[in-house]
Amino acid sequence: MSIADNLKKIKERVAEAAVRSSRNPEDVKIVAVSKTHPIVYIKEVYDSGVRTFGENRVQEAAAKIPLLPKDIEWHLVGHLQTNKTMTAVESFNVIQSIDSIKLAAKLERDCSELDKIIDVMIQLDLAAEETKFGIPQEEFYSLCDYISESSAHLNLTGLMCLPPYFTDTEKVRPYFVALKKYFDEFNNKYSRKIKELSMGMSNDYTVAIEEGATIVRIGTAIFGDRNN
Ligand SMILES: *Cc1c(COP(=O)(O)O)cnc(C)c1O
Repeated sequence: MSIADNLKKIKERVAEAAVRSSRNPEDVKIVAVSKTHPIVYIKEVYDSGVRTFGENRVQEAAAKIPLLPKDIEWHLVGHLQTNKTMTAVESFNVIQSIDSIKLAAKLERDCSELDKIIDVMIQLDLAAEETKFGIPQEEFYSLCDYISESSAHLNLTGLMCLPPYFTDTEKVRPYFVALKKYFDEFNNKYSRKIKELSMGMSNDYTVAIEEGATIVRIGTAIFGDRNN
């Protein structure tokens, strides 16, 4: 299967999942997660019509982004260390992985220095796994308060989660339901509304769409396996 074939298949499955849950397929955005993949393959995906890409490491992305077309919207989907925020702000259009007040404060400072407003999303840790990042659920609303009250340069657009991997995708569904619940609660509680729910990857994006995902982050199903 070529990259173009992979994308065609994914778009069909996205549309089917959207229709199954009475949603408009156009309300689901595919972020092609290009981490570890070389420029030639990213260009191939670009040439198949994708304009939104995701990377999980700041350094790797900062090296690749200048070599690719300027109309790509870049999303940071991996953990961001506070010593790399300036490069992240200069490289990415959206930072999906805000997971602490400390990180939000550092980003706010860097953005204010650059006089730039950046779209951000909060990554929630719904599984409390040692190996995964995200803000613990009990600290979620303090972070929301902080961003709404003290971060004029951070435009909060939505929530993201990275649940544990299950071969049986029905086991992931409760995590997607839980993130949607936080999303609805947020929109009830704050006057400023969020609209994005970033959930679902190659293995489980159709389930995520059924539960309300507006952004799916897909790597392997587009590019094939990563060699690392
Ligand atoms: C790698 C990665 C993805 C894509 O994973 P695939 O299983 O290859 O689709 C999505 N989100 C995050 C945060 C990732 O790090």
